[in-house]
Amino acid sequence: MEDFRAIDFHVHPFPQVSPDELLRAMDEADIERAVLIGLDIDPADVENKRVRERIEATLLNLTMGLIFVQFDELKKEAYDFMPSFRTENEHVAKLVKLWPERFVGFGSVDVCKGQSYIEKTIRKIKKLRLKGVKVLPTAQFFNPALDRELVDLLFSLCEKENLAVIYHTGCDVGAFELPHLSESANPILLNGVLDSYPNLKIVLSHFGSYSAKYPKIWFKECIDIMKKYDNTYADTAAVPYILEDEKAVEKIRTEVGFERVLFGSDYPAVILVTINDEKDIIEKTQLLTAEEKELVLYENADELLRSL
Ligand SMILES: [Zn+2]
Repeated sequence: MEDFRAIDFHVHPFPQVSPDELLRAMDEADIERAVLIGLDIDPADVENKRVRERIEATLLNLTMGLIFVQFDELKKEAYDFMPSFRTENEHVAKLVKLWPERFVGFGSVDVCKGQSYIEKTIRKIKKLRLKGVKVLPTAQFFNPALDRELVDLLFSLCEKENLAVIYHTGCDVGAFELPHLSESANPILLNGVLDSYPNLKIVLSHFGSYSAKYPKIWFKECIDIMKKYDNTYADTAAVPYILEDEKAVEKIRTEVGFERVLFGSDYPAVILVTINDEKDIIEKTQLLTAEEKELVLYENADELLRSL
């Protein structure tokens, strides 16, 4: 088997993970550089009036399908898990400064906190010399259809400042895994919204497919958006199996091509899965040509990062 050089477009430097551990995982997988992603999440967001009302309405709807989830259950889950995954933009910038050859930094902005918070944080991200912004409709409680003005503000600032966006698509973890609660992260909701930002570079993270219970949940919608907007990319983070799926590979090849597919591992977010495990799947898949593997593992990311 050929060993490919690679750039990992999706790594989480969680506060409890040492940089040595990240570098070791990268070396083991022969990763030249990794995009380190900040995570601006805050459990107190669920107590924001607008967010809480929206969650409660969704939960009420679920009861018709005889699914009963209490708001307090979700709130507890948010307070139990979010603090340990929160990753400060300053922390990302510090790591990039220490290992500029190995790390590229992306910040994050908690979109539901509103207009002035978004403006302030994007300024800060720019000042920290980070190259992009990670957002999650799920954990940052926004919906491009319902919060259009916030998403427009975010995209227009990122386009103007030449910051790429990594945009979570698919479900979320734990109690938030329910598709109804994650619906805001269906990539199809970007249809129309992206019309105004032809120069924005946006990575649809997880190929619309992130879900423990319903793998590939919004893969088709992700392809539809990629087909319509050629400034969109998708990463394989936590869903490398997409490239072992004959139908999915054929759909990517015929409808969008492999020039906008990026390798990402999501390390260390998926328990017991290393960067090497994820890269191995892509190196070994019989469905991609060596040229396509090179594009996905290295060249597409290299070109995108050079443009930032
Ligand atoms: Zn991730």
